[in-house]
Amino acid sequence: MSMKAIMYHYVRPSDANLPFLKHLHFDDFKLQLDYFENTYGIINQDEFINSLRTGEAVKGVVLTFDDALSCHYDFVYKELKRRNLWGIFYVPTLMYSSDKILDVHRIHILLGMVESQLIYNELINLVTDEMCTDASKIEFKTLTYNTQKNDSYTNLVKRILNYFISYEFRETIIDQLMEKFIPEQNRQRSKFYITEEQILEMQENGMTIGSHTASHPVLSKLNRVDQTKEIINSFSFLEQTCKGLPYKTFCYPYGGFHSFNQDTVNVLNENDCLFSFNVEHRDIVQSDLLNHKQELPRYDCNQFKFGQIRE
Ligand SMILES: [Zn+2]
Repeated sequence: MSMKAIMYHYVRPSDANLPFLKHLHFDDFKLQLDYFENTYGIINQDEFINSLRTGEAVKGVVLTFDDALSCHYDFVYKELKRRNLWGIFYVPTLMYSSDKILDVHRIHILLGMVESQLIYNELINLVTDEMCTDASKIEFKTLTYNTQKNDSYTNLVKRILNYFISYEFRETIIDQLMEKFIPEQNRQRSKFYITEEQILEMQENGMTIGSHTASHPVLSKLNRVDQTKEIINSFSFLEQTCKGLPYKTFCYPYGGFHSFNQDTVNVLNENDCLFSFNVEHRDIVQSDLLNHKQELPRYDCNQFKFGQIRE
């Protein structure tokens, strides 16, 4: 019995507006659904919930979609509905109250729209040594004096924004980059994410809506109190938006065992979360279903036929 959960992010046709955005092409997604339906079968909600109760894995694939991206309604949900399939959609929730696209996604928009070398050059102007974390100050200096030729500008931009800059400066720097490079209409939250109405419609049509925290942080970097806030606030937003959730499910931002800790698992258990997904590339087995419900393993779609990003 091989039971597999699959993780997706951007699933959409190519968009001339975002020529560099890494996404699974919608046509490839449909081919992959055909492949999964024919090879493993796709598990429905009742089968999955039942296997969590009994500990018996069932043969098939569970489809999961992270980050509440607008393509999850426009393409994914409509396709799943057409095929009568079940999917779980993990939604970060802070953007619904702030009207701002989350930093993690603003970096995707920047790198998806603009040549990464231009962003890199601008970053080098904006970021000073003082803005860097102590751990990265020397590395940042070296970087600005001699850029390694084998390093792509995309990776450099990501390293500066995700690793070098202290958290307190990061949002302002991203604000400045967005202002400089991204037209107003592409900075709107409502175009980037699924809407609250769509979330409700998706649940009412058989999809599962789960929490992906409020602000999409690396949870293991937060203390227990702040982790609790991230988790509780996002669930209460979703319960309100969906007019009640049949059960709570969660998935860790970024994923992997470094992205959460025992506090996270305890908070999820204390809040009656039924199950949570990690990123760990293996099948779900009986011991996961019985003893590690908050750390269910999940594959990336690119590990299966048709799941690769087009060049
Ligand atoms: Zn995410």
